Amino acid sequence: MTNPPPDPAPGSWPADPIRAPGTPEGDWRHWPGLRELPVLDPPAELPATPGRPPRVLVVSAHPDDEVLGFGGTIALLAEAGVRLRLVSVTAGEASHPHPGVPPARDLATVRARELHQALGRLGADVQSVRLGLPDGRVDRYEWDLSALLLDLLRDCELCVAPYSGDLNPDHEAAGRAALRAGAATGVPVWEYPVWAWHWAAPGDGRLPWHRAARIPLPPATGARKYDALECLRSLVRPRSDRPGDEAILPPAELDHFRRDFEVILR
Ligand SMILES: [Zn+2]
Repeated sequence: MTNPPPDPAPGSWPADPIRAPGTPEGDWRHWPGLRELPVLDPPAELPATPGRPPRVLVVSAHPDDEVLGFGGTIALLAEAGVRLRLVSVTAGEASHPHPGVPPARDLATVRARELHQALGRLGADVQSVRLGLPDGRVDRYEWDLSALLLDLLRDCELCVAPYSGDLNPDHEAAGRAALRAGAATGVPVWEYPVWAWHWAAPGDGRLPWHRAARIPLPPATGARKYDALECLRSLVRPRSDRPGDEAILPPAELDHFRRDFEVILR
């Protein structure tokens, strides 16, 4: 996730629905549509791979997307012995407009450390791949990203990526690149919404509900995810009192990711 910058910047100006007040989690909680989605058991969805554990490629646009939208399922897959390869498309260096604000001087380093800690809380020993594309400008490199993901996908049974309709330009570009790589390799792609829980509303016609499925998180897995979310300190706390340095994930936003299930689109 990325805070809206104080001034428009080419390629990074978020769509208005993200700047607008979001849908309270209580609205989602009271909507039966989410509870009635088909249920998935991710390890059981993976094809058998004789002689080796199955492998899943998990793509994030920023080093936190995968924890927010798919962290509980990452924990479930790790527990089932699935090998996980995590691709951070950007380092998330542009999440705040004042990256030099103390105490941390290097936001990319901070966010990489937070992700590492979060993955530890999820019990996931992953192979990490950092592509280093510029935060806020992934769409300029979308075709290169497709080619990179195509290579990274070749020995995987599943690809998971941010939702290509999430209305954050980086999320959408990463999602489109993953869909393209999946189509070229025949590897199925699951998309996880992040910002959609903010800008969409229950039953929202802009979301492809017919492709949605629910992954229940057992209490112990949910607890792992809550712990992992606490590691994302640069997002859940204000970075300073300057404009633009507000918490990207104040408690009301974080509530979307504290459910006892996750939703993917397939
Ligand atoms: Zn993001």
